[in-house]
Amino acid sequence: MNGSPAEAVGVDVGATKIAAVRVAADGAVSARARCATPRRTAAELVAAVAGLVARVRGERVAAVGVGLPGMVDARTGALAFAPGLEFARAPLRELIADAVGLPVVTDNDANVAAWAEYRLGAGRGHEHLVLVTLGTGLGCGVVVGGRLLHGAHGFATEASHLTVDPGGPWCECGQRGCWGVAASGAAIEKLGRQAATDLPASPLGRLIGAGRPDAGTAVTEAARGGDGRALEILDRIGTLTGVGLAALANLFDPAVVIVGGGPVSAGDLLLAPARAEFARRLYAPGDRPPVPVLAAGFADLAGAIGAALLALDRSR
Ligand SMILES: [Zn+2]
Repeated sequence: MNGSPAEAVGVDVGATKIAAVRVAADGAVSARARCATPRRTAAELVAAVAGLVARVRGERVAAVGVGLPGMVDARTGALAFAPGLEFARAPLRELIADAVGLPVVTDNDANVAAWAEYRLGAGRGHEHLVLVTLGTGLGCGVVVGGRLLHGAHGFATEASHLTVDPGGPWCECGQRGCWGVAASGAAIEKLGRQAATDLPASPLGRLIGAGRPDAGTAVTEAARGGDGRALEILDRIGTLTGVGLAALANLFDPAVVIVGGGPVSAGDLLLAPARAEFARRLYAPGDRPPVPVLAAGFADLAGAIGAALLALDRSR
């Protein structure tokens, strides 16, 4: 390395797009690229990842970290299952390593985002933390004693299928009221579109009716302007988020709980009801140190940066 600090490439494979960044040990990003996610075959996905790595790679890059949108075998780095991809059970760590010619680390996308928050984000300085990301679905990563919690197989902390609303909407897993359908970013969008249909002349109805492609940001914008239904939606999703966060805090006893993903840009409109419900449901709150519920420190690059940091940490 000629005394130069090493860098890594971090890749975040989402259900619709893949982001890649070149990252130094201090988290500084010096190159970035993105492309659409080929969902049909492992070979096409590997080729896309390798293409992005080639675009951002510099001569000091020592390793590659990849966050995957599903269950990743912690021993082999293989993808076991991803709800948004049309293939499963692919040895992606091995295939990507062969394609890029560098050591590769793979992990679940929320796990690598939790690693970014632990190392350099809102959880910095805390050895025990819980991260939940609200997006198309809901992701969760848990750091215990300075290590990611993987479970026996790598499939731990699938909080998306924790029940937060027993009478709530049906989930693809066959159950009702799973956190991932009741209170993800997608749930905000769905409720926003329904409100716009019910009340087309309301501020939210006009924003979404004007063809705003992202109903989630329309809900935030309308809520900031005082739209009643938009405020109700964020209050409801925030409250259900607090239900899930309290369950995780009661299980894992984290020092901090971190919430990431697009909807967090709504700030206290979402986080205040989440904190209130969290405080109501946390066991014996008066007999333990306070557990802050914080907004994530990294925005949409958390997964890619966390994957790079994990690769650097593992290559030492
Ligand atoms: Zn489910």
